[in-house]
Amino acid sequence: MKAPADFRPEQLHRRDWYVQEGDTWRLRASRCSGCGMLMFPAAHACPRCWPAPPIEDATVPETGTLLSWTTAEIAPASFAPPYAFGYADMTPTVRLFGQIDRTGDPPLAVDMKIELVLGVVSRDHQGQAVWAYKFAPAIREG
Ligand SMILES: [Zn+2]
Repeated sequence: MKAPADFRPEQLHRRDWYVQEGDTWRLRASRCSGCGMLMFPAAHACPRCWPAPPIEDATVPETGTLLSWTTAEIAPASFAPPYAFGYADMTPTVRLFGQIDRTGDPPLAVDMKIELVLGVVSRDHQGQAVWAYKFAPAIREG
């Protein structure tokens, strides 16, 4: 996820979920050295192989598949409706829930390819932007 010019890392929701690689941010995950299962959020043990194989640092792929989504027309005060949110599979074992950056083109659809982006998801009690990963249509993949 490329950081937009106005991105403030200190305003990330769950800062511990992210790792910075240059000007790119990735979701921090872990991978079981035994069965290869990718886990997000990062875990200290594999639920399949516990307690044996070591766990390795990893990151979540930048693209996935949108499983389902909806739009909220009414929201708590810290959110700005309407906004879309849904589930996306990033790997067979990593399913994320998140908001969707909607520009309207292309229209959202089940099974469409999405990419992770950094965006403002809400405002805190002081009105400051709260940043997190969001889904956006993976236009580059057509
Ligand atoms: Zn395992």
